[in-house]
Amino acid sequence: MHVLKFGGTSVANAENINKVVAIVKQSLLKNKTIVVVSALSGITDLLIAAGKTASLRNEAYKESLKTIETKHLQAVRELIPIDRQSETLSLVKKKCNELENICEGVFLLAELSARTLDSIMSYGELLSSLIISAKLGSLQMSHLWIDSRELIRTNSNFGNAIVDMDHSTTAIQNYLHQNPKQLYIIPGFIAMDASGITTTLGRGGSDFTAAIIAAAMDAELLEIWTDVSGMMTADPRLVSNAKIIPNISYQEAMELSHFGAKVIYPPTIQPVMNKGIPIRIKNTFAPDDYGTLIERKATENKNSVSGISSIGKMALLSLEGTGMVGVPGISKRLFEALSTEKINVILITQASSEYSICVGVDEPNAAKAKEAVDTEFANEIAFKKVDPVYIEKDLSIIALVGENMKNHTGISGKMFGALGRNGINIRAIAQGSSEKNISTVIKTADVKKAVNVLHEDFFETVHKQVNLFLVDKLKTLMISYI
Ligand code: ASP
Ligand code: MG
Repeated sequence: MHVLKFGGTSVANAENINKVVAIVKQSLLKNKTIVVVSALSGITDLLIAAGKTASLRNEAYKESLKTIETKHLQAVRELIPIDRQSETLSLVKKKCNELENICEGVFLLAELSARTLDSIMSYGELLSSLIISAKLGSLQMSHLWIDSRELIRTNSNFGNAIVDMDHSTTAIQNYLHQNPKQLYIIPGFIAMDASGITTTLGRGGSDFTAAIIAAAMDAELLEIWTDVSGMMTADPRLVSNAKIIPNISYQEAMELSHFGAKVIYPPTIQPVMNKGIPIRIKNTFAPDDYGTLIERKATENKNSVSGISSIGKMALLSLEGTGMVGVPGISKRLFEALSTEKINVILITQASSEYSICVGVDEPNAAKAKEAVDTEFANEIAFKKVDPVYIEKDLSIIALVGENMKNHTGISGKMFGALGRNGINIRAIAQGSSEKNISTVIKTADVKKAVNVLHEDFFETVHKQVNLFLVDKLKTLMISYI
């Protein structure tokens, strides 16, 4: 059994969907295949825009809905022979009418709850999967379309629901065993809570749907089909010499995907990692490319660093003061204040003097974070035991990622040396004891230079370094002879 997940660009239009069909046919020659699909590229954003515009009592939401309907109808017209179109065209129209009714409700009430937004967003994946199913039907490719809400159960945390793995695993196994087929088509991203209300798994969550299904069915392989030929050593928009990473471990992939390499949705890795199912990243537009194979253990990598990643738009919050030294519970209160406001912490540093704690958060959350922490420590601030939170903006994180770093010394030395030589100031540093990731916070304006300098040092000058090393060795030998 192979699980193939196709992202938004892979199913963006009829031309691309035809490529998907060809890939699915290939897979079917050898394996039972489960296909999980995203919404057509850009549709989830349009659905969110429609919902939000409607909630502002702005009739312009109808335009977004029109665009959504037109794109899907056009895909059907291009994909399916004219004599077989009408059924699918009316199915698409029916779904679009349902969607319009929901948005009209939002418009009338001038209110958009997270629950309603989930139900609006679900139409993206429903429509794309139904259209692909119709295309396969028109080609006489026998398959079963399954509504993923029947398979995946979550809590009611609308917008970013938590999956009940046990319940979902049993549901997937039962459903598929009771309905044996060579090919299944399943919409990604959407699920259902215990009361039967539609939920979603978070933006980019179709990958996760595929991973949950792959794990439940003990698939041999999970393939993520996207529009790039794999994970790269650095963001190619920043580094022109960035290279595809052919083999990487789950851990490294997780570290890299948390940082900007938007190739795979981070939670995807966990369920398949637990089962040891390999993930292959493949390019729908260059299907013969090797891609990236993510497995338990990366094949021996001469380079101790597998990739460099970066995330922008972050802010550093510093809490400082003599009132923090040796006082237990300060960090607990700090993190509790942030978590109550649902603010995600990206990076944490505290020096052993305990005089300050520094946390990195997404820049748009900075003001809210400051308010929450200042309120929590209002007493200490009034007594001048701690200072009000200090915010710095326009910062980014760059991180070296690699499982082999723990077996090498001098990596951080080399990293900081390279940044220092190039006049890049480091604002904060974090490295977990697993040594899989060394993160530094620098000014966003320095990111391009920093990533290039590091890429050059860690990926492009290996040969140069070996040569220098040999010259050095020769010199020492000669000196000892003299
Ligand atoms: N369509 C959803 C999104 O755009 C889920 C996905 O594509 O993975 O976030
Ligand atoms: Mg995606």
